[in-house]
Amino acid sequence: MEKKKIYLCLAHMTEAGLEGKYIQEAFDTNWVVPLGPNVDAFEKDLEAFVNKSLLDKRVVALSSGTAAVHLALLASGVEAGDEVLVQSFTFCATSNPVAYLGAKPVFIDSESDSWNMDPALLEEAIRDRIAKTGRKPKAIVPVTLYGMPYDVDRIMAIAEHYDIPVIEDTAEAFGSCWKGRALGTFGRFGVLSFNGNKMITTSGGGALICKDDSERQHILWLATQARESYPYYQHDAIGYNYRLSNICAGIGRGQMTVVNDHIAHHKHVYETYREGLKGLDGIEVHGNPDKRYDSNFWLNTITLDPNVHVKGQEEAYKTQPARSDCEPNDNVEALRTWLDARGIEARPLWKPMHKQPIHKDALAYLNGVSQSLFQVGLCLPSGPCVSDEDLNFIIQTIIEAIG
Ligand SMILES: *Cc1c(COP(=O)(O)O)cnc(C)c1O
Repeated sequence: MEKKKIYLCLAHMTEAGLEGKYIQEAFDTNWVVPLGPNVDAFEKDLEAFVNKSLLDKRVVALSSGTAAVHLALLASGVEAGDEVLVQSFTFCATSNPVAYLGAKPVFIDSESDSWNMDPALLEEAIRDRIAKTGRKPKAIVPVTLYGMPYDVDRIMAIAEHYDIPVIEDTAEAFGSCWKGRALGTFGRFGVLSFNGNKMITTSGGGALICKDDSERQHILWLATQARESYPYYQHDAIGYNYRLSNICAGIGRGQMTVVNDHIAHHKHVYETYREGLKGLDGIEVHGNPDKRYDSNFWLNTITLDPNVHVKGQEEAYKTQPARSDCEPNDNVEALRTWLDARGIEARPLWKPMHKQPIHKDALAYLNGVSQSLFQVGLCLPSGPCVSDEDLNFIIQTIIEAIG
């Protein structure tokens, strides 16, 4: 029998098929539009989830996490020509919306324990930009890479000191906490994503956590073509068509009934990798730096010391010569192809934005951390479809590769 491929993180529907039930309800009541009962109920579920520590944040469901970043920047007053301080070590959806607005991303490197925005570099960048341009950057966008919190206390203290709004890109961190409180509830806005590979899915979708109802109303207005309440169509501002479909929200309602199971599973996968790989010199599973951090372990990641020998590493880039000036090390590429040949998907870490050709002219405040991590890191299968049997197989396959 052919073995099934083990993917990083595939969508996983409820056993009871609740997603289908909510979608059917939408059809039966003819709410086949980007608003309706599923959207309202999904937003209530999301609010209950992020407000567990007695907060009163409001949530707007949107068509994607990228749309959420875009609207958060817009509502923070980012305009063409403005500078926005963005974590460099991330997926392009964090910084692309800065470009949509004609603004300029200024990239900030990471610290080595959380892998997220380095507070010292952030402060240096703020001071330097004010000194050189006479203007403050318009927003700060830290990211919670692979679900790991950034140092919320230090980043928020700096943001408050300079009075610059924070947009938390917590697209990967649904269910992660900082000192017991949900990520995405600390900044002016928090971004969520429900793409097919995230902690829960709506097939495609996202949301913005807002600090209060008036902020929520403003985002809602922007997301629905900035329509004024007239009997006819009257527009005083440019809007967007970014609301979540009532069909997709039905999937989200079903998924919210198993979100805690998903999070528990991702954490179990982390524990299993940590146990299984702990005897191996030079291989490290990325974990919470200390007790304040509570990652959802959306994707589990390992780093490989350059001294670890992986079978076939001499051939790693022979068939496919270097495609850019910054690639994972030979042993990392060899481990990736070794796993791939055995039906296991593994992927390099996000390539830092300051190393991307599209951003070659962007300003960046660097310490080398994100580039070094990119060269030594790999993401391993972590999603709800990955069984204990799969995990044992993955761990054994890694051990064979370096044996
Ligand atoms: C997935 C992701 C997004 C965007 O979400 P979409 O819903 O795919 O648009 C934004 N930022 C990060 C870091 C992500 O991983």
